[in-house]
Amino acid sequence: MSENQQVENVIIIGSGPAGYTAAIYTARANLNPLMFEGYFAGGQLMLTTEVENYPGFPEGVMGPDFMMDLKKQAERFGTRVVTKDVTKVDFSQTPHRVEVGNDVYYANAVIISTGASAKLLGLESEKKLMGHGVSTCATCDGAFFREKAVAIVGGGDSAMEEANFLTRFASKVYVIHRREELRASKIMQDRAMNNPKIEFIWNSEITEILGEQKVTGVKLYNNKTDEHSEMALDGVFVAIGHTPNTKLFTEFLETDETGYLKVAYPSSRTNVEGVFAAGDVHDSIYRQAITAAGAGCRAAIDAERYLESIGH
Ligand code: NAP
Repeated sequence: MSENQQVENVIIIGSGPAGYTAAIYTARANLNPLMFEGYFAGGQLMLTTEVENYPGFPEGVMGPDFMMDLKKQAERFGTRVVTKDVTKVDFSQTPHRVEVGNDVYYANAVIISTGASAKLLGLESEKKLMGHGVSTCATCDGAFFREKAVAIVGGGDSAMEEANFLTRFASKVYVIHRREELRASKIMQDRAMNNPKIEFIWNSEITEILGEQKVTGVKLYNNKTDEHSEMALDGVFVAIGHTPNTKLFTEFLETDETGYLKVAYPSSRTNVEGVFAAGDVHDSIYRQAITAAGAGCRAAIDAERYLESIGH
């Protein structure tokens, strides 16, 4: 292990809109932040194509380009961005200890913005067509499917909500669910079932997403009748839940019943002094780039005030 004796003001763990915004704010506050953006830097916007709902981009912006710009903006003010994953933390001591492989760092304040990962079906074709008709965010990508036929996979509240949302654009929305009973709350089920554009396909699993450059359809397996079939589609929205990326922290930080980091709302403070959370890692409700960026700003300001309070 190689120990860095210097104690950092702020270490930011994880990137995406929350982390980069926290970096911009802490850097501009002269805190000289150190950010471990992770090997899969940039978060969920790296999985999308055009972002049309982030204010300030009247023509839209490509998700990956947007993240590169946020990173540049953070670096312009002196953020040291390291493209590595944090492998271990110890928040039981101050300054807090952060391990990155064999390197050990210490910081008076830590901002966690490791995000949440959308669960995926795990198909090769899903990976290949991600951003080309496969999406994990109806709010982000629904508007690209005007007058098209799309499918939502899942039977929970997210799937129902996204199915309803997609009917604003799509001509037809199929809900493909692996059972014949929904997990979603009654009110969300009723809303979806009463929507004439939504059709349910029960007991069905997608075995392959078809298409070369973009989605053209799916192969289905009916687990009740044992039948295989194909259907033509323009888009597939996977809405089978999210997993907050909290594994590194749960020994020290409290989470809610769904596994998201708990903060002392409206602040970004976790239960450990000097440790703050921002973005999807603590937000199971809004999950938008703009709300994550806002949370990153909040965490930076909280960290700055905390450091001031302890005399740094
Ligand atoms: P969820 O409740 O965990 O539902 C996930 C759905 O995906 C389930 O129907 C599950 O099927 C299915 N699924 C999981 N893995 C699958 C796989 N590998 N292949 C095919 N299907 C799979 O997740 P969620 O809908 O994202 O909701 C998460 C939480 O947020 C819930 O507490 C929910 O109530 C809340 N939420 C609330 C609202 C609202 O009230 N407006 C909106 C969105 C979310 P099974 O049913 O067979 O397990």
